[in-house]
Formats: sequence, structure tokens, C-alpha cells
Amino acid sequence: MLRGTHLKQNCAYLLNRPTSLTVKLFFQLPKKEVRENHFSQLMLEQVSQRYQNCTRGDSKNPKDNFIISIYDDHQSQYEEFNFYQNTGNLEVSHPFACVGSKSSVSLAPLEASWKIINSITAYLITHPHLDHLSGLVINSPSFEDSKDVYGLPQTMNTIRSSLFNGHVWPDLISEGLINLHEISPYIDEHSMCDFYNVECFPVAHGDIQNGRFLSSAFLITDKLTQDSIIIFGDLESDYSSSKDYNRKIWELISPLVLKDKLNTIIIECSTIDKPPPLYGHMTPTSLIAELLALRKYCFDKKFLQKTISHSAESVVYIQSEFQPLKAMNVIVTHVKEVPAAVNPRTLIFRQLNDLNCKYALGINFTIALPGLSLFYNFES
Ligand SMILES: [Zn+2]
Ligand SMILES: [Zn+2]
Repeated sequence: MLRGTHLKQNCAYLLNRPTSLTVKLFFQLPKKEVRENHFSQLMLEQVSQRYQNCTRGDSKNPKDNFIISIYDDHQSQYEEFNFYQNTGNLEVSHPFACVGSKSSVSLAPLEASWKIINSITAYLITHPHLDHLSGLVINSPSFEDSKDVYGLPQTMNTIRSSLFNGHVWPDLISEGLINLHEISPYIDEHSMCDFYNVECFPVAHGDIQNGRFLSSAFLITDKLTQDSIIIFGDLESDYSSSKDYNRKIWELISPLVLKDKLNTIIIECSTIDKPPPLYGHMTPTSLIAELLALRKYCFDKKFLQKTISHSAESVVYIQSEFQPLKAMNVIVTHVKEVPAAVNPRTLIFRQLNDLNCKYALGINFTIALPGLSLFYNFES
């Protein structure tokens, strides 16, 4: 059971915490207990700045169920966040509403941010691009304790050689404030904290001089329930990279989908469909192509590869009563904010849902919005 919070509009950070620990409860805990609860997280930047934008009020009040729009196509200056969510088993809330100025938590924004940052024990870095990493660096002067940072060996190497190298930023690794943990793909399952194990798989993310640049996906598993969630960093489809990184992941997680142990995928879809070049990212068409590949692996596993000769778009899958991705939550992140007549979120959401219907996938798509929390409700 995880909560995810997309915290910053132009960066790609998600904050995960056990559902047993609400933000309100977190602020009421003594420091020692907060540590024991491992308010664990993926990536967080400049909480103080974002936090102030996230404390607009109580989500029970319908007037607060909006975010400020930066596009012209909305009738008011607000966007209703429920618009980007199919009905399903996800609940949306303002995670920091309880620490707003009128709340019972009487901490100033900076003090509250400091406390949040220092409660984070683990950072999972999908790849070393700055929009996914700057939060770890910029917030490091406020660290009271050492932080564990996890990722692929090459990501850890880049962080060591290009960031905390004494030139770009002080060498906090030698000082013992940053502990880098390399996760070997397909082999290692790391115990990240009392709650979660984590595995890391490479994915392609654009061309570099000597081949493909690698980003990654994290499979996080609740130690108690064995429920998993998979969270992708930036990536491109296998169809554009001509590699098979994503297919390997779909094959690996298809048994979890069939056992109903993985019902949420967090993945990017940064751009509307457009002609190449597209630097190492996903569009609605390529995301759906990847999800069709996952569905095919589920069929192959369930029916012992009898369907293997069919293409992923085959009517055999479309017309089947068995639909392995039905009610799967796919939470879309990293929609690029670009000047456009129509909000790209709206276009991407619409196109994903059209293709979802065309291929009878039955997926619940949600577009993640900055500063909002998504909570998977097992009881609904
Ligand atoms: Zn990137
Ligand atoms: Zn990015």
C-alpha cells in the first residue's frame, strides 16, 4: 500500500509513504517515532516552495478540488483535478492540507518542510537527469542524518563523479551524508526499510554517443502483504529504442498482475503523439503499445504460451472475456508543460482513453497532478 505524491510541477518527484502514516499523524509524532515509521520516499525537491502551494485547504471542501490552470482552454483559472481520473479505486487528496495555516499543525512552512525532508530515509533515483535529481542535491544542506540513495550502478557512478564531486556540489559521499547503494538489475532485491523491498530494471531513454542512455523502473514490494507497485522513470518504448528492456519488465511483472499483486503502474507519457524526433519519451500511442505487450505476456503466462503467435493488437485479445489489465491503475506522470492552445494533459488523457476503448484494455488512467496525493483504496 503506497501513497504517491507528484510534488513539483516542472520536476518529476514522487513521495511514497505507508498508508498507516497520514501526513497529519506524521506531524504529531515525536521525532524518534517518525524515524521508526520510515516516512520513506522517492524524490523530493524544494518542499518549502511546493508545500505552500499544496496547503490550499481541506479536500473535503469541493471548492478546494482544483489546481491553478496555466492554459487558456479552461473556463476559469482553475482545473478540476478529478477530471483527469477515471472512476476507480484511487482517491485524490491534498496531502498537506492538514498542515496549512488554518490547520491544527502549527509549524511555519519552512519548519514543516525541514521536518518532511528529514523524515525521508531513502531516495530512489531512476536516472541522473536534473529534473529527477536536483531535489536531492538542493535539499542536502538541510539533512540532519545520512540518506540512503538507490539506483542502477551507472546512475550511482554519475552521481558520484558528476554531482557530489567537490566541484558541482560538496562531496557529501566522502563525508558520509550520502550513502549510495547500487542495485544490480534482475538480480538484487534490496530491503529499503522496514516496509519495502525494491528491485530496479533498466529502460531506454534516448540516444547518447556510445549507445542508449539508461533510465530505470523500480518495483517496490510491501514486505508484509507482498503487494507491489512499479514506478518508471523517463523512458521510451521498445519500438523506438529497438531494445527489449520494457518487454523484459512486462514479462517479469505479468505473474504479479495475474495474481492481483500488482494493480498500479506509474509511468510517464510526456508528449502528445507527434512525428519524430522525440527524445527518449513516451506518447499515448507508444504507452498503449507497451501496455498491449504487457497484456499479451499475461495471456501467454495464463494460457501457457498458446497465444504466442498473435500480435499484441490481435482481435483474439480484444474480444476475450478475460482481460488481465481490467481495473489496473495506470498513473501518468511527466506530462510536459508546453505553450499550447489546448492543455496537453487533456489531449493525452483523451487519446489514452480512446485507445483504451479501442483495444478493450479496461485500464483506469489517471494523470498525476502536482501537489496531490493518490491513495489506492483496497476496499472499494
Ligand atoms: Zn530524463
Ligand atoms: Zn524527466
